[in-house]
Amino acid sequence: MNKVFPVPQPAPAPTHAPLDGTAITARLKELAAFSDVPGELTRLTLTPAHKRAAAQVSYWMREAGLTQVHMDATGTIIGRYPADRANAKTLLIGSHIDTVRNAGIYDGNLGVLTAIAAVEALNAQGIRLPFAIEVAAFADEEGVRFLSTLTSSKAVAGIFDPKSLDDVDPQGISRAEALRSFGAPVERIAECRRNPDDMLGYVEVHIEQGPVLEAAGAPLGIVTGIAGASRGHVRVRGEAGHSGTLPMPMRHDALAAAAEMILAVEARGRTDADALVATVGTLIIAGSAVNVVPGEVQFSLDVRTLSDDLRRRAVEDIRTAVAQIAARRGVRASVDIGHEVPAAPCHGPLKERMAQVVDSLGLPVVRLPSGAGHDAMVFRGILAIAMLFVRSQNGSHNPREYASPADIGLAAEALYAFLIKTAAEM
Ligand SMILES: [Zn+2]
Repeated sequence: MNKVFPVPQPAPAPTHAPLDGTAITARLKELAAFSDVPGELTRLTLTPAHKRAAAQVSYWMREAGLTQVHMDATGTIIGRYPADRANAKTLLIGSHIDTVRNAGIYDGNLGVLTAIAAVEALNAQGIRLPFAIEVAAFADEEGVRFLSTLTSSKAVAGIFDPKSLDDVDPQGISRAEALRSFGAPVERIAECRRNPDDMLGYVEVHIEQGPVLEAAGAPLGIVTGIAGASRGHVRVRGEAGHSGTLPMPMRHDALAAAAEMILAVEARGRTDADALVATVGTLIIAGSAVNVVPGEVQFSLDVRTLSDDLRRRAVEDIRTAVAQIAARRGVRASVDIGHEVPAAPCHGPLKERMAQVVDSLGLPVVRLPSGAGHDAMVFRGILAIAMLFVRSQNGSHNPREYASPADIGLAAEALYAFLIKTAAEM
């Protein structure tokens, strides 16, 4: 146990000005002004608006006391708050500052600004910890512009795929070209990697993007892990025919069969409703017309859960149900799962520490999985990860996304308390 500084008990008090939710919200609004589309927040990765936002974040990082603030080879802005000693480990705190089209202002940006605020609060009091902190404003989380995604955090994790440099956006600009014009030293991607032996872990604060905390009346949530996902599509082939001349008993209606299959997907989701979500989000009817019995239909499949085993079983159950429905209706059906991502569970001790600081702030401790992907997931099996969710209203990936200044202040307080507690327990 290192005695490095007075540890506030039980929670950090009084509130330090940098942790004030209203001040952080003001910065979120300032950052939201950096948009490629006037009148809304659209800041796809490596665009001019992203570059201006990155410059602003760099400025705030330096002002907060972070040193060595720089842009890495993937466009991430990273700053370092040194430890109180040499050869100390590093805790990485981050999120992303790229957005979807017509985005909310909190997704990603909130995590970056609370991290900067927590460091600013330490620096304002002259507190150094027995570990260094690095704050990362990742450049590529949303995956809207290029095919590949999470390339920034993957580079830090050491799992960057060089092929993603050749990905092109709809204008034909490659990621490598976009990085160069962004000012990123693209030839130095290998240097982005952090040696896991030197790291304490990765922590991310993020708006929930779902309704669970709101429904629970809890400002903050402890993320148990990031759900794994199986994604693919189901193709159903029956026989097209004239809607007026083909008698009902003689039909092999691909759409009617698909409808039954879609309900089977929903039913499988509901069977494990506390742990699993299963969704059909797209439906394509080949040659659809009002007077044609549909001959061929394709629909998407998206199954997510924190349990990889449950996910595999659910996909198998869906395959079985699809085959049974197809056989009964005399259509052919194939299930193609093209995309599988394993779950990324949060690290037990880090997660518990996060729960303890939330409890110490007098808040209810709600644990929930993340159904959405985050930068944190790339560190699966590489770094210990922890995530703190902030209650959101109006969903996410839309301009009505909202977190209250009060909740944001609590998130900053919790992150700060987490840092203090981590130091105290070393
Ligand atoms: Zn995000």
